[in-house]
This record gives sequence, C-alpha cells and structure tokens, in this order.
Amino acid sequence: MRNANLTRGHNRPAFAFKRDRLPNPAEYFDAQGLKLSGGGVWKSAVCPFHKDTKPSLRARLDTGGFRCMVCGAHGGDVLAFHMQRHGLRFIDAARALGAWEASR
Ligand SMILES: [Zn+2]
Repeated sequence: MRNANLTRGHNRPAFAFKRDRLPNPAEYFDAQGLKLSGGGVWKSAVCPFHKDTKPSLRARLDTGGFRCMVCGAHGGDVLAFHMQRHGLRFIDAARALGAWEASR
C-alpha cells in the first residue's frame, strides 16, 4: 500500500539532486576552513561542531565522510557536513553546494 505511488513511475520530480555535482571533498573542507592533516585515508582536523582544542574530527577526502571522536558529529559526505554545519535542510544544502537542479 505504502509503495503504490512509487511504482507508477510517471510522476517525475520537478527537481533533482545531482550527487556528482557535489564539490570535491578536499576543496570543500578547505573552503570551510578545516585544516586537514595526517597521511592516512582519514585526515584529522579541529572539529567545527563543538569547542575543540585539538583535532578530534576525522574526515576522508575520497567520500567526504566525517566523524568526530569527541562530540559524535558524523555523516557520509560533504552534503551531510554542510547540513549540520549550517543547519540546513537537505534541499537547501544541496542547492548551496550546486547539486540541486530544476529539470523541465
Ligand atoms: Zn566534535
């Protein structure tokens, strides 16, 4: 019952999220003022989600995934980061990052 509307397939949304338009995580984190350090897959940075004094945040530059070892803030990509950092809804964050497009 719940999926009745999803299986019809002809009501295409007027707007669409374009994941491939999300900014490169390295450039994005840099633009957000994060100083990432470390040589492994997970880089370290001072966490912007709590009053951090030493680098507690781990972030990866391939996916944009991040996790703070102190306050627990986490997400899987730069979109999740942008939503939490700026208190935005999914759509507004996607729009702000240039990954939300109106189709006609
Ligand atoms: Zn934190």
